[in-house]
Amino acid sequence: MRMSQLYAPTLREVPAEAEIKSHQYMLRAGLMRKSTAGIYAYLPLGQRVLQKVQQIVREEMNAEGGQELLLPILQPAELWKETGRWEDYGEEMFKVKDRHKRDFCLGPTHEEIITALIRSDVRSYKQLPLLLYQIQNKYRDEIRPRFGVIRGREFVMKDLYSFDQDEDSLERSYQRMYNAYERIFRRCGLDTVPVEADSGAIGGDTSHEFMVLADSGEAAIVHCPACGYAANVEKAPCPEVPIEEGERHSSEEVHTPSVGTIEEVCSFLSVEPQQCIKTILYMADGKPLAVLVRGDHTLNELKLQKELQCSELEMADSHTIAEITGAPVGFAGPLNLPIPIMADYAAAAVTDAVVGANKEDYHVRHVSIPKDCSLWKTADLRECQEGDPCPRCGAGLDTARGTEVGQVFKLGTKYSTPLQATFLDQNGKERPLLMGCYGIGVSRTMAAIIEQHCDEDGIIWPVSTAPYSVTIVPVNYKDEKQRAAADELYTRLEDSGIDVLLDDRLERPGVKFKDADLIGFPYRVTIGPKSLQENKVELTHRASKAVELVDIGEVVDLLLSKLASEQPLT
Ligand code: ATP
Ligand code: MG
Repeated sequence: MRMSQLYAPTLREVPAEAEIKSHQYMLRAGLMRKSTAGIYAYLPLGQRVLQKVQQIVREEMNAEGGQELLLPILQPAELWKETGRWEDYGEEMFKVKDRHKRDFCLGPTHEEIITALIRSDVRSYKQLPLLLYQIQNKYRDEIRPRFGVIRGREFVMKDLYSFDQDEDSLERSYQRMYNAYERIFRRCGLDTVPVEADSGAIGGDTSHEFMVLADSGEAAIVHCPACGYAANVEKAPCPEVPIEEGERHSSEEVHTPSVGTIEEVCSFLSVEPQQCIKTILYMADGKPLAVLVRGDHTLNELKLQKELQCSELEMADSHTIAEITGAPVGFAGPLNLPIPIMADYAAAAVTDAVVGANKEDYHVRHVSIPKDCSLWKTADLRECQEGDPCPRCGAGLDTARGTEVGQVFKLGTKYSTPLQATFLDQNGKERPLLMGCYGIGVSRTMAAIIEQHCDEDGIIWPVSTAPYSVTIVPVNYKDEKQRAAADELYTRLEDSGIDVLLDDRLERPGVKFKDADLIGFPYRVTIGPKSLQENKVELTHRASKAVELVDIGEVVDLLLSKLASEQPLT
């Protein structure tokens, strides 16, 4: 490709809307342009990268027996009503009507569609296991589209669905995908951490997320420096806490005017946040319930919902709170509360606590949660945090932030049962199919690669996903000698199968070098008047900035071997 013809409008200025490097560079290097919030057009260079990532994904899916198909984006509401997700999916779903006023959605994911497909065609265990995938646009009306294609409303995803006859077979499918994901991200030049993930409140039991560690990441992770355990904070279990009885004071009500937050309570009463107990009122399937957590801990609603096995969980509104506690919001406490009280393990062990008094402007201190409160249940209800013991080895956990690039999921019969996707087993018995689903954010992966591979001058593409591996930059393309050498080298590189871009623009060399660094081609061949006299060119490695003088006749072989050695082995 010749740069003079390439549609790659680069920008010198950093676009104001772009907060993180990948977003800035994708706009500046002319990889994409914004259409509207969370929706982007990929320009030729961006599309080339996307295709390279897709090709890696495709090869690894195929290597594990995946078969590619293409499912409809426009999906009828009826299927989603069969699984209950037409309502449950919420506002993220883009809903549309056809001319007959029938409801459809733009696929945010494809479990319903693929299960409905399978149920009419798969009959016998002999047709299993089945691994089907597609690479396609997904639509989610994200509440906060941000960071460019990292959180878009239209984005490219690879989604594979596995269908198996029993748990062992599902486990094998899951492992195959897990291993394929490790290879895919490695081949893309991405450093990822697989973390144990929560598989949602209902159904499914095993899930891992593949995280790229980044300060801008939206997911919080805990990981153990001692044994390597890693999990999403939502998933990581927190242990039961033994009760240590200290000196016993009798409890007393204290007047705490305009004291609301945990910090205010702590400074007003000279206590630690660990001694303050938050009492949070919920409605679980319409029934009220109080939950206690320590002031320095965060309640985890996923854990709570799992413990309660309820389908609807929401915080009680101020009216309900006032009715139950007899006080305005902010003063709820566990003493004499006429509803079931559940306490997180750590809260349940506090023997000298400050709690709300169920009375405006009052708290009660010196309360023993285990002795003074009639607890209905104690459980692990909080989010894991820095310093908590590793559930595997007990060492202190570290925290980090990450961006999820992929997730693997065992679904079991969550979709096959409601959608009646069954098969006949070896004994002729009808059973629901066991399913798994496995997603990779292809467009998000592209941004994640840039996050991990860039410097102050621009992107540094790994060879495997670079839009072009090599750019040839003649210092002055008008000069006959330089042009002849550049054209000849360009043809030779192309003939040897290397993705090469010739910068034949009549721009100043500085402009061309800046663009080459910004777009981030792994290698640049500079053809200048001086070295050309000795039949030499300059070869610059984008990542290390190392420059070597190379005989023009040796460039092709040298580049072939360098490029090959930089492709990660699978
Ligand atoms: P997140 O927690 O980031 O919202 P998710 O868990 O909802 O993601 P999945 O349903 O597991 O996402 O989708 C599979 C993959 O698709 C994710 O691992 C992620 O890489 C990608 N993805 C999800 N939502 C978006 C989005 N809005 N924009 C770009 N990629 C996305
Ligand atoms: Mg996910």
